[in-house]
Amino acid sequence: MSGLSILVAGGGIAGLTSALLLACRGHRVSVVERRAFLSEVGAGLQLSPNASRILLDAGLREPLARIAGEPDRVVVRGLRSERPVASVALGAFARERYGAPYLVAHRADLQGILRDAIEQAGVPLTLGRSVVDAVSSRDGVTVTMADESGGTSEAQVDLVVAADGLWSTLEGKVGAAGSPVYRGYVAWRTTLPRERAPALLQGNETGLWLGSVGHVVHYPIRRGELINLVAIEQRYDPVEGWATPGDGAGLVARFSQSAPPLRMLMEAAGPWLLWSLFDRPAHRLTAGNLVLVGDAGHPVLPFLAQGAALAIEDAATLASLLPDDKADLEPALARFERDRVPRIRRVQDEARRNGRVYHLGGPAAFARDLVMRTLGPQRMTSRYDWLYGYTSPALARSAPPR
Ligand SMILES: Cc1cc2nc3c(=O)[nH]c(=O)nc-3n(C[C@H](O)[C@H](O)[C@H](O)COP(=O)(O)OP(=O)(O)OC[C@H]3O[C@@H](n4cnc5c(N)ncnc54)[C@H](O)[C@@H]3O)c2cc1C
Repeated sequence: MSGLSILVAGGGIAGLTSALLLACRGHRVSVVERRAFLSEVGAGLQLSPNASRILLDAGLREPLARIAGEPDRVVVRGLRSERPVASVALGAFARERYGAPYLVAHRADLQGILRDAIEQAGVPLTLGRSVVDAVSSRDGVTVTMADESGGTSEAQVDLVVAADGLWSTLEGKVGAAGSPVYRGYVAWRTTLPRERAPALLQGNETGLWLGSVGHVVHYPIRRGELINLVAIEQRYDPVEGWATPGDGAGLVARFSQSAPPLRMLMEAAGPWLLWSLFDRPAHRLTAGNLVLVGDAGHPVLPFLAQGAALAIEDAATLASLLPDDKADLEPALARFERDRVPRIRRVQDEARRNGRVYHLGGPAAFARDLVMRTLGPQRMTSRYDWLYGYTSPALARSAPPR
């Protein structure tokens, strides 16, 4: 039999994309997901060109065109004023500059097309089963799994791809760098029908409102039927749990100084769910025959909209590096780690820096706005050439898929 036998732990964007790209390379892949159904809460996702390029190359052009939109620009404003401070060119400018579009989509829709694609590629997906352990030996990896009734089973594979998210069970096997670190921000997320938004905010553009109390991002999804809305609040302590229901009236009160259209948008939206925001600098991504991808290996603050994008890059890099023969796995995994860690670290650092810049107040905020206005829309985008124009070294020299 050709190719490696690979078990992917986790059916989020990292796991499904890895499964798809690895199966396209001829490996024998299966996915095990802890939940009884695939669900992506949190609504919207921006897919920058570094990620959309990979999905388009994987044959997802038609389904992506069906589910995703392409905003014309990001309009940047201060929280208190509806007058734009600056804008960032997206749409045709980004598509032509980077050879791939800057997309926005509903997470569940992206997960749906990835799930359809792995099904077509013949990848089995088992729901309601958790990977609880993975022990590497000379013969490969022995994986222990538990189902919802507590029954356990084992499988022997050549490689485990751990895509089990921020609170990864398998990350401890690699000893990446300890627990994720809370960075002092809580994200409030919701959606609302577009017609309930103030007219000023109904266009095909992303809104970014900056202030010292926090910042707000919104953009249309589901081909403009819905607006995805995220408010980031600076908060000393994290909130309990993950996707915790939040009190919308309390949020609106905290952002009470906002310009009227933004306040109206927030008042019209809900119910809200809360996520405390963590990251953990990328360190180690592999040990034995186990490799970490996505949030399991390197959670990142969302202030550059790159968590899922990095997961998609991980998947593409891994798929292009893995050999057919397990005897050649070790150098390929070492190469994966060498390629990915510097890239991910740069994105993590930049996302943290963006958090600080977004929340400046007083004269520092004035100076920030002046710089953005002076740069103009196209230079605001091209500051990120290193990010959106990226192709991993492994992809640049990889052979075409079989
Ligand atoms: C507010 C906010 C906004 C964001 N916006 C963007 C954006 O615009 N663009 C972007 O690129 N990124 C964005 N991100 C980041 C992005 O959401 C994440 O980086 C991405 O979803 C991570 O995907 P993942 O598959 O690694 O993890 P997850 O989505 O967490 O998936 C992990 C999966 O593994 C399963 N699992 C867990 N444990 C086990 C186990 N033991 N066995 C089997 N299965 C298991 C879980 O049930 C889950 O389905 C944002 C994040 C936040 C918080």
